[in-house]
Amino acid sequence: MVLRFLGITLQASGKVPLRDNPAMTMATDKHGNLDLGLTWHNSFAQLGEDFHTLLSPQPLPAPYWVGCSTSLARELGLDESWLASPELLEAVSGNRPIAGTQPLASVYSGHQFGYWAGQLGDGRAILLGQTSAGLELQLKGAGRTPYSRMGDGRAVLRSSIREFLCSEAMHGLGIASSRALCVTGSDAPIRRETIETAAVVTRVAPSFVRFGHFEHFSHRGQHLQLKALADYVIEQFYPACRSNSKFDGNPYAALLEAVSERTAKMVAQWQAVGFCHGVMNTDNMSILGLTIDYGPFQFLDAFNPDHICNHSDTEGRYAFNKQPNITYWNLFCLGQALLPLIQAQGLAIAALESFKTVFPAALEKQMRAKLGITDLQNGTAADDRALIEDLLKLLAKDRVDYTIFWRRLSHSNAGTDTEAVRDLFLDREASGAWLLRYAERLAHIPRSLVTNLMLKTNPKFVLRNHLGEQAIKRAKLKDFSEVNTLLALLESPFEEHPGFDEYASFPPDWASSIEISCSS
Ligand code: AMP
Ligand code: MG
Repeated sequence: MVLRFLGITLQASGKVPLRDNPAMTMATDKHGNLDLGLTWHNSFAQLGEDFHTLLSPQPLPAPYWVGCSTSLARELGLDESWLASPELLEAVSGNRPIAGTQPLASVYSGHQFGYWAGQLGDGRAILLGQTSAGLELQLKGAGRTPYSRMGDGRAVLRSSIREFLCSEAMHGLGIASSRALCVTGSDAPIRRETIETAAVVTRVAPSFVRFGHFEHFSHRGQHLQLKALADYVIEQFYPACRSNSKFDGNPYAALLEAVSERTAKMVAQWQAVGFCHGVMNTDNMSILGLTIDYGPFQFLDAFNPDHICNHSDTEGRYAFNKQPNITYWNLFCLGQALLPLIQAQGLAIAALESFKTVFPAALEKQMRAKLGITDLQNGTAADDRALIEDLLKLLAKDRVDYTIFWRRLSHSNAGTDTEAVRDLFLDREASGAWLLRYAERLAHIPRSLVTNLMLKTNPKFVLRNHLGEQAIKRAKLKDFSEVNTLLALLESPFEEHPGFDEYASFPPDWASSIEISCSS
């Protein structure tokens, strides 16, 4: 297995107490639109009508709050007390317009499961606009759009809770992701395999532009629009590409390289933490290298490199260990789409080259941090790589629980107190031999350094499928306490959270029978 890497910006956002100052009242403009006190820019809307359709969200009947992220509300500059208010509830459910926004659904295309799927577009996500802090707000599940095709424009409660929790969990892990401000629900019936109920997730990201947006205009030969989109993305998010002297000064080749590198680093973090996305179609790939469109994702329980988390993925195209290669394939689709702007095929290929070095280097760095290896001297890299590869083989052979292994290893005092780690393996001899090699490798590094690094690199809490399922089961009965508990744990997954160890323990037997498909 090839090894790969990146130093994550690990951030365990501590809990900040709610302010107890009196709630600010929400203003209403002369049209009755809610004024959130934010300044809106809506730069994507300014690209013009070839890129979107202006429309209003479809009201969600009798909405109620399911979950909210106060930390994100704070980042957005929203008054926290509003997160319980009926006015904001109506606004984020699509029932009441927000002053200054310009709601729209954007058009894109994409490759799905390896095949060109043609036009897709936001079939159920409505972009409200972009705040002056540079964050876009989207309502996912807010009704039909011209791009809904056969869909109903809605999202069900279960998938909305999963998206909400996982967005915030990834952020807590320091992995680039779209965020989720809140989920609101309704008793309105939604037909999937069974009758379920509707929900809306308020998603937040600097941009929701996907590889598929570029593929859309390129495939249609709309090169003016393709250029406008690329120029927009460069100006807003990759300004350094304009002054890049590589690639004969071609800014679009520089963009391709920059996107490749960001995406490579993100996927390296997925591999290191054991995250399986499940549907890496090009329309689900963010141009900013963010994890987006949470569907049948899964954090690994037992380590199985071939694990397929999406029940609809019968061929295993998006299996855990295939994610890096699929990423590269998707980047080639982006390169192909940008070719009319890059013009020389050689430049596009050169721009994609860096993935081959950035990805393995980032994964390797990440894995070294997981092991607590803080020094990298001449000659240790190859040995470290062997140490990591041998470990992954052992973990796979015994199907060891991935998250628990790393957390126990983090508590092993630099490999000197390994009883609890050894208990995880069937092959005591092979695991014992590996642990000896490991302790020897760390012998010259201060143990406190090792432990500190490992405890902020290897999370105690991840959003395992069964935890999500339990929260969803209760939420269906209008008990949202598990959603809130999980949110609090996953926002700071590297902290111990005394009293919540059961959320960090082995999955129950029934967890392996959970089937999550594309249905959402
Ligand atoms: P996804 O698999 O969720 O990434 O969806 C693929 C495409 O289908 C996207 O363009 C979605 O907006 C659209 N889509 C998925 N579910 C629905 C739905 N229930 N109604 C309308 N469009 C949908
Ligand atoms: Mg999608």
